[in-house]
Amino acid sequence: MNEKIISGKECSKQIKESLKNKIKDLDKRLKLVVIRVGNDEASKIYVNSKRKACNEVGIDFLEITFRDDVSEEVLIDKINELNNNDEVTSILVQLPLPNHLNSHKILNTIDYKKDVDGHTTINIGKLNNNEEAIIPCTAAGVIELLKFSNTTLESKNIVIIGRSNLVGKPLIPLLLKENATVSICHSKTANLSEYTKKADIIICAVGKVNLINKDMVKENAIIIDVGINRLDDCICGDVDFNDFNNKVSKITPVPGGVGVMTVTNLLINILKCYEFQKNE
Ligand code: NAD
Repeated sequence: MNEKIISGKECSKQIKESLKNKIKDLDKRLKLVVIRVGNDEASKIYVNSKRKACNEVGIDFLEITFRDDVSEEVLIDKINELNNNDEVTSILVQLPLPNHLNSHKILNTIDYKKDVDGHTTINIGKLNNNEEAIIPCTAAGVIELLKFSNTTLESKNIVIIGRSNLVGKPLIPLLLKENATVSICHSKTANLSEYTKKADIIICAVGKVNLINKDMVKENAIIIDVGINRLDDCICGDVDFNDFNNKVSKITPVPGGVGVMTVTNLLINILKCYEFQKNE
């Protein structure tokens, strides 16, 4: 076993065991409802992995599908119906939605207490205000992995590459809360290596093979690779795992790193939704 590898599989196994025990003692069944629109193959794969994870820990799962010409009104009516259904703990709208639909409006129809992906403006505001919030699953997964690997975050220089609402942006308040010094880089950043060379921890969330190379990273840095790139014969991250292995002190693999944690954090968030609703 390579000591440098931060294994999402291992971390996720431990979290799922503890979740299973908590869930079986609850006073009601938890239920996730996923809304999927159209025939996007990747979306079908993602939804199936969510179904499998729910089955593993004893959470009920329902997928509702719509044709890709569904109207905004029909989707919003369905979400409102699910908001008002006490048997539904959490609602997830699988992204991306077809272009004719306003994703922002549709996601913000979800009751923030059932917003398992943390997409609503209320949850985003709460997260940035240091209040109890439902946190986007991938960003939460990155933090879980850093803690699982006993990485100290306080006073560390952390560079996030990628500023999406799902990954880069929610990581800012999460890392600031841990007293790290945070920089965020993106497609318009001039001279990326100036930032990465100073970083104790680099979190790469772009979706570009070999985005950074070994010369751009200081000795013993830690790399969290969020990127998922589908090549003809394999899936890989944004950094060349084998090449970096000798230089860094810790690194996440792709697959088997952050991706596994994203699904596991969905389960954590379903339980959080239940607690939000119970405490209201
Ligand atoms: P996105 O397309 O919304 O954002 C990509 C970001 O990368 C943007 O902020 C952009 O400014 C930045 N960027 C693009 N080119 C750059 C460059 N040359 N230098 C620096 N920054 C650059 O993507 P996303 O949804 O945040 O996903 C990013 C990657 O993470 C993708 O590969 C995606 O598949 C993967 N992802 C993985 C998981 C997981 O569970 N592991 C979850 C979500 C996303």
